[in-house]
Amino acid sequence: LYNMVQDLKGNIRVYCRIRPSFSSESKNVIKFIGEDGSVVILDPAKPQKDGRKDFQFNRVFGPTSSQDEVFKDTQPLIRSVMDGYNVCIFAYGQTGSGKTHTMSGPSGGSTRDMGINYLALNDLFQMSNRRKDIIHYDIHVQMVEIYNEQVRDLLAEDSSTIRSCPTDNGLSIPDATMHSVNSTTDVLNLMKFGEMNRMVSSTAINNRSSRSHSVLTIHVHGKDTSGGTLRSCLHLVDLAGSERVDKSEVTGDRLKEAQYINKSLSCLGDVITALAQKNSHIPYRNSKLTLLLQGALGGHAKTLMLAHVSPEEDSFNETISTLKFAQRVSTV
Ligand code: ADP
Ligand code: MG
Repeated sequence: LYNMVQDLKGNIRVYCRIRPSFSSESKNVIKFIGEDGSVVILDPAKPQKDGRKDFQFNRVFGPTSSQDEVFKDTQPLIRSVMDGYNVCIFAYGQTGSGKTHTMSGPSGGSTRDMGINYLALNDLFQMSNRRKDIIHYDIHVQMVEIYNEQVRDLLAEDSSTIRSCPTDNGLSIPDATMHSVNSTTDVLNLMKFGEMNRMVSSTAINNRSSRSHSVLTIHVHGKDTSGGTLRSCLHLVDLAGSERVDKSEVTGDRLKEAQYINKSLSCLGDVITALAQKNSHIPYRNSKLTLLLQGALGGHAKTLMLAHVSPEEDSFNETISTLKFAQRVSTV
């Protein structure tokens, strides 16, 4: 049933989430949020009519939407992993727009308002338990970070750079530590460990975590009573901030970093667009990210892009560019 629902909706979906405003002084540029997935924003520098821009997505979540609401809409997709489908979920948007909030939850390590990563695993455990008389599931996770086109294993004791060549089925991230998980406690502990590994390098290079992609991969292996097996995976990706840096203001390492981010995000956009248009050539090889996720992008795999925007006036240009990117990869 999960698949039927999902198949009707198509294999590439794009949602938009608008975070609450944190500034009482700054004007709000979001003018309309529709039940049908429409968003209207207004350019603060132009008179009402001229500044109006319309976008259309599969769904839009406004500033008051809860973690549970977002998860509920994502749940059928996540559940299809238990039926053997590969799934990729991406959080896209400028730094500060709420990507990590959606995927991991609020910063500070509280267990309230947990994000998709935790809720997804929790849901998979529950499903596995409900089906235990007909099918036995093993669930494993990997967690890596891609920074400057280098892949690091966040679950390794020493999170040194790992080699990454795609495997035949593209379903695992080669050489990255694979951990078996049986409970949400296991998951919380692993995520804490991975986050810590990420922070250690991050403080050394001034908040690098917003400039790297983090990929949590959940592997599902099922065996039914008649000996049939299925293998699938769910990639949950918190992308690097999509903001454009001013080339006149940054140089050296910071400029190189920005160029890597730019390139990998536009490669991701190209791949999803090519899939949406059912092109014969899909340019997976142009970035580490798309290469790693290749086996779970396209074919029967399902993709969800969660485009995040900030509502404040001073983010207007980034908001427009995020919405344009999301619209480009969308098939609505
Ligand atoms: P990003 O990962 O895109 O850089 P964060 O997820 O870190 O952004 O969000 C920036 C700040 O805004 C954080 O303090 C986060 O807790 C808060 N925030 C983001 N989205 C929401 C939301 N939907 N509701 C409440 N707070 C949010
Ligand atoms: Mg973040």
